[in-house]
Order: sequence, then structure tokens, then C-alpha cells
Amino acid sequence: MNSTAPLLQVEHLTLDYRLPRRRLFAPPPHHRALDDVSLTLARGESLAVVGESGSGKSTLARTVLALERPQAGRVVLLGRDVFALPADELRKLRRHAQMVFQDPYGSLDPRRKVGWIVAEPLDALEQGVESAERRARIAETLQSVGLQSGDADKFPHEFSGGQRQRIAIARALITRPALIVADEAVSALDVSVQAQVLNLLMDLRERLGLSYLFISHDLAVVRQVADRVMVLRDGRVVEEGEVEGLFRAPQHPYTRALLAAVPRIGVPRRRVTAAP
Ligand code: ADP
Ligand code: MG
Repeated sequence: MNSTAPLLQVEHLTLDYRLPRRRLFAPPPHHRALDDVSLTLARGESLAVVGESGSGKSTLARTVLALERPQAGRVVLLGRDVFALPADELRKLRRHAQMVFQDPYGSLDPRRKVGWIVAEPLDALEQGVESAERRARIAETLQSVGLQSGDADKFPHEFSGGQRQRIAIARALITRPALIVADEAVSALDVSVQAQVLNLLMDLRERLGLSYLFISHDLAVVRQVADRVMVLRDGRVVEEGEVEGLFRAPQHPYTRALLAAVPRIGVPRRRVTAAP
């Protein structure tokens, strides 16, 4: 794998969702969820994607992870063009990019123990991991997110929302990825819990050299975690820039409108403090 290439390059992605045909002989209508979207993410960098609901953020996240196939454009991860790879090569590449979803209740299988849930990507993507190593990886990963190795034998319902999101993060980390795609990863949490999970994500970034594609509708959160911000509107990139500059002097009226709609934008960067 080419280590001088950017971690992730997204080039001119266009993705149309087909909608149900309204009349028998009419061409099937479509909805353009991504329209010529490009971005670059360096190793260790954190890029936020912001935009209103329906702007295409989750579609972009899924397409970057090759869970959705675009009509046009390329996703190049670690120098590999993901949609040009044979299935077995793509499977090998998947361990380098993992997703953390929004919902800490819905995204964890309630019938499975935490150890099984956390190890699932390892079991699916890395062959030949011996059971002792597997156990050690589960324990090490749980500890890295502030949980205990013994938590592997518990069920998700024994944990709070914030702890469940730590489990979801552990699950994303167990294959030792370079890229984490976080789609509204703290949006379902209370503000004080949100602050703890954001601090964890920032610590992990430093400790493990992770890159984040951090998707959020919440600009206060974005300001704390991102180096750069990309603003999506109706599937198009309307503005992109360094986080401080973009917050200080947004160029596009849409970005200004988004910023004007945020009440707690005055929060400090980096170290997040819980609201009183
Ligand atoms: P966001 O995450 O920013 O809220 P999404 O990427 O989920 O936006 O959706 C972008 C647009 O694509 C929305 O208009 C949404 O209704 C539409 N969309 C998303 N998924 C599908 C799908 N599977 N089929 C048809 N339309 C979809
Ligand atoms: Mg979404």
C-alpha cells in the first residue's frame, strides 16, 4: 500500500437513488443524493461533513465505505480505487476503514454479548486470528475506549447510552483501522455524555493516529473535533475550509445560515466541557 498517498481521496462522486416509477412507461425517476462531491483526507486529519438533514451526509459516508455504489466518481482509500477492486481485495481493504453509527441502542445486537459484538468485524475481515489473540484484542480494545475487559461477557442492556457508544467505537477500532467514519456518532447522547465521548474520540486520534470523517448536523460538535469542514447542501459541496476560518468568516450564505442557527457555538475547542 502506498504510504505517501492521502489516506482517502473522493473524486467527483455522483449518486442517484432510483425512486418508484410513477407511470408504467415513464423512465424511473431518481433523486440525486450526491452531485460531483470531491474531498481529500490526510493521515491523522479530521474532516467534518456538515449539512441539514437530507443533504447527503450519510450517503457520502456509506459510499466512502463502499456500502453504496455511485453512478460516477471514485473513492481511493490507501491508494486503492475501491470500486475497481475485486471482492476479495475490497474485503481486505475494509478493515482499514470502519464506521461508528449514531444510535447506541439500535446498532448493537441485544442478544449478543459485548465481546462478540466488538469482535464481529475482526471475525468477518481478518482470517486466522487465534482465540487467545482474539480474546486479547477484545480486552485491549475495550480498555482503549475506557471499558473493562470483563465487560466482554455482558450484554448491551447492562450499559448506559454513553457506554454503549464506547462499545460501538471499540467495534470500529478492533481491526486497527486508519479511518473512522463517524455518522452522527454523538448526536443521540446527552450533552455531558457527548462531551466525554468526544474527548475519547480526540484521545484515540492522538494515541492511534486515526483520521476521522466526522459527519454531523451539529456545528458546535464539529468545531471541537474537526481540522477542516465541508458543507454539503442538496448533495453538493458549497464550501470547504479550515474549521476556524470557516467559523469566523463563512463565505457561502448557506454556511452563514447554518452557523446562525447554532445557539452554543461559543464552546471552546478541543477540550470539551460539559454544560452546567
Ligand atoms: P443526510 O444524512 O444528510 O440526512 P442522506 O444521505 O441520508 O442525508 O439522504 C440524502 C437524500 O437521499 C435524502 O433526500 C434522502 O431522502 C435520499 N435517500 C437516502 N437514502 C435513500 C434511498 N435508499 N432511496 C431513496 N432515497 C434515499
Ligand atoms: Mg444521515
